Amino acid sequence: MALLLGYNRRSMRESLPLLVERLLDWYAANRRDLAWRPARGAAPGTRPDPYRVLVSEAMLQQTQVATVIGYFERFMARFPTLMTLAAADEQAVLRAWQGLGYYSRARNLLATARVVVRELGGELPKDVAGLMKLPGVGRYTAGAIVSIAFGELAPVLDGNVARVICRLDAIRSDPRARVTVERLWKRAEELLPRGELAPLVGDFNSALMELGAIICTPRKPKCGVCPVRGCCSAAARGLAERIPAPRVSKATPFLSRTIFCVWRGRGSGRRWLIEQRPAKGRWAGMWQFPTREADGAAERRLGAWRHMGTIRHALTHRRYGFEVYLGEEELIPPAVTARPSRWVRLGELDRFPMPKPQLSALAMIRAGRRASGSKAVAMPGRC
Ligand code: SF4
Repeated sequence: MALLLGYNRRSMRESLPLLVERLLDWYAANRRDLAWRPARGAAPGTRPDPYRVLVSEAMLQQTQVATVIGYFERFMARFPTLMTLAAADEQAVLRAWQGLGYYSRARNLLATARVVVRELGGELPKDVAGLMKLPGVGRYTAGAIVSIAFGELAPVLDGNVARVICRLDAIRSDPRARVTVERLWKRAEELLPRGELAPLVGDFNSALMELGAIICTPRKPKCGVCPVRGCCSAAARGLAERIPAPRVSKATPFLSRTIFCVWRGRGSGRRWLIEQRPAKGRWAGMWQFPTREADGAAERRLGAWRHMGTIRHALTHRRYGFEVYLGEEELIPPAVTARPSRWVRLGELDRFPMPKPQLSALAMIRAGRRASGSKAVAMPGRC
């Protein structure tokens, strides 16, 4: 890489931290070819389209790279520019995000695109402070965008980078504790390339994240092939697998819900009842088969619903169990019609953004799964 850039390696070694040089060399040779990065073979320091970085960073929050790849490509095909996204309908954006989860990211992305087009002439701010004024853009995302897309000297700190720095410096305190987080941000800034390597700050930040993703992994870090092993305190002290200390897992609440798949009509005229969720809260604005809090006492009262199966769904802070029931229109208790609703054909449901558990219920209907028995159900509280 140094040859590619025309730098003198010896003087670079003298003037810049060895860690930076090694990490950049390793990244140039080993980085994964991902759709939101410049094509493999592009010169080091080549900068990607800021919009692509914005979308990819939104998708990568809380989500693995392997999951994001397909979503990213479809999203970019549907909304290739900030302008097309800004002009899009929220339902279309949620539909493109469907299955990726954490839908507030999609709504914030849309809101950001609209603000940028309406108030900033269609150009993303090139500084961290300006970016952090946009909906859903935090310190990490802002740092990633300005460094990767604009080559500005700004640090990033995501879970991967935090782990790498904790190990490099043998920091044993909880990396989620506020004091430690501030310490890690400071360290991430100190590590940034300076001088003649400063223009490679985007590659450097990407390299730190990449190292955490594929070498300095949460379990069994591959220290034997790590490019920065010589700079790593945890490896030198045999602490790599003990840093960071494992998180004490808290019990997550379990919530029971009942999904009512209600139909009317016969044959090709059959339609299904769906309702729109409230504009705020989990899965805001998305569509679902009527879904309510489960109530065991009420469930014992009715007998004509067919039990289709159970869906388990885990989020970061809670777990859900959805019991899926099938029944005709006459069985609907009044509470089920309390939200904005529509009767649609199964084929039309592809136009409505639906949360993952609801897609599983839809799959049950499509697969014609039959229940192991009928149960009594009713609609008490709201989901
Ligand atoms: Fe991580 Fe091991 Fe590399 Fe240290 S030497 S940064 S612990 S992979």
